[in-house]
Amino acid sequence: MSYSLKPGVVTGDDYKTLLKAAKEGAYAIPAVNTVGTNSVNAVMEAAAKNNSDVIIQFSNSGGQFYAGKSLEDAFEAKVLGSVSAAQHVHLLAEKYGICVVLHTDHANKGLIPWVEALVSHSEAYYEIHGKPLYTSHMLDLSAEDIDFNLSESKRLLERMAPIGMSLEIELGVTGGEEDGVGSDDDIGADNPLLYTQPEDCLRAWELLSPIGHFSLAASFGNVHGVYKPGNVKLRPEILKSAQELVESTCGTELKPLDLVFHGGSGSEKAKITEAISYGVIKMNIDTDTQFAYAKAVGDYVDANAKAFKYQIDPEDGTPYKKQYDPRKFLRAGEEGMVERLDEAFADLSSIGKSLAQ
Ligand SMILES: [Zn+2]
Repeated sequence: MSYSLKPGVVTGDDYKTLLKAAKEGAYAIPAVNTVGTNSVNAVMEAAAKNNSDVIIQFSNSGGQFYAGKSLEDAFEAKVLGSVSAAQHVHLLAEKYGICVVLHTDHANKGLIPWVEALVSHSEAYYEIHGKPLYTSHMLDLSAEDIDFNLSESKRLLERMAPIGMSLEIELGVTGGEEDGVGSDDDIGADNPLLYTQPEDCLRAWELLSPIGHFSLAASFGNVHGVYKPGNVKLRPEILKSAQELVESTCGTELKPLDLVFHGGSGSEKAKITEAISYGVIKMNIDTDTQFAYAKAVGDYVDANAKAFKYQIDPEDGTPYKKQYDPRKFLRAGEEGMVERLDEAFADLSSIGKSLAQ
C-alpha cells in the first residue's frame, strides 16, 4: 500500500500511519536527540535531504538546555524548554517538506511530573489546534517493578489517548548511561536484565492496546553510548519471540508491537536490519550525532585556531571576524550532524521513504 501525509508535525492517526508504512516497508525512522535550534534544524535538514521522515526528541535536560541553563527553576525550564522546542518544530517542519514526530525521551519515576506538565500543555494546544503539542512521550519505569511500570503507563495513556497522543514504555533495561539515566555498571552479555521477557511484552499489550497507541522499548542487549566491542551482545531474536507470543495469544495481525531500539549508536548494521525485520520502527540516535557535531566544530577550531584567540592577528593585523562569527562554527557542527545522519537514514533503510506530499 502507499500512504501519503501532509508535511509537518504528525500526531494521532497520522503517526500510526507513519509507523504502519515503516513496518510494511521494512524500514525504521531515526529518532534523534536534540538540544537547541542548531541540532533541531540539522535533523530536519538531514531528513529533507534524504527524503525521509524523522523523529525529533528531547530528554528532560535537553529541554532544560533549550530554555537556558541559567534559569533558576530547573523543573520549569525542563517543561518550558520542551514546549518552546516543540513550538519551533511546529512552525518550521512543514517548510522542510517532511513529516516530523515530536517526542520526549526517557522519563524515570522522578520525571513523571515533567511528562504530566507537558501533557497539560498538549491538552491546551489541542483545544486550539485540534492536535497535541507532542506526538508522544516516553515513560521509562524499567527500574521499578513491572506492576508499577504498567499501572503508571496505563494511567498516563488514559489521559493522553483522548487527544491523540502515544506513549512509549520500556520493559527490561537499556544498559549504559544517557543524560544521567542508567549506569555503565550493568553492561555485560550475561546480565538477564538486559533482555526483555516476551511475557512482559504480552502483559503490556493486553493492558495498554485497548486504551490507545503505545510503542515499546524492549531490551535485547542494547546499551546507551558506545563501548568497546565484546561488551554487548545484541539478541534481536528476543523481539521476534515477543511479537509471536502476542500474535498467538491475542490473535493479532503479524508484528503487532511497535518496537523501539534504544542505544543504537555503534550497532552492527546486520543487527539493525534484523531488528527492523521483527518490527522495530524507531531507532534512537544520540551519542553518534553528538560526536559528529563536536568533531566538526573541533575541526573548524583547529583549522581557524588564531581566530579563537585573537580578534585581529597580533603580527600582521588580519581581522578574524569572519572566522569567529558563531554562525561559522555552529554551522560546521550542523553539517557534521547532517553527514552522520545520512548514514543513519541509510542504516535504517528510510531514504526516499517520506510519506509527505
Ligand atoms: Zn534510550
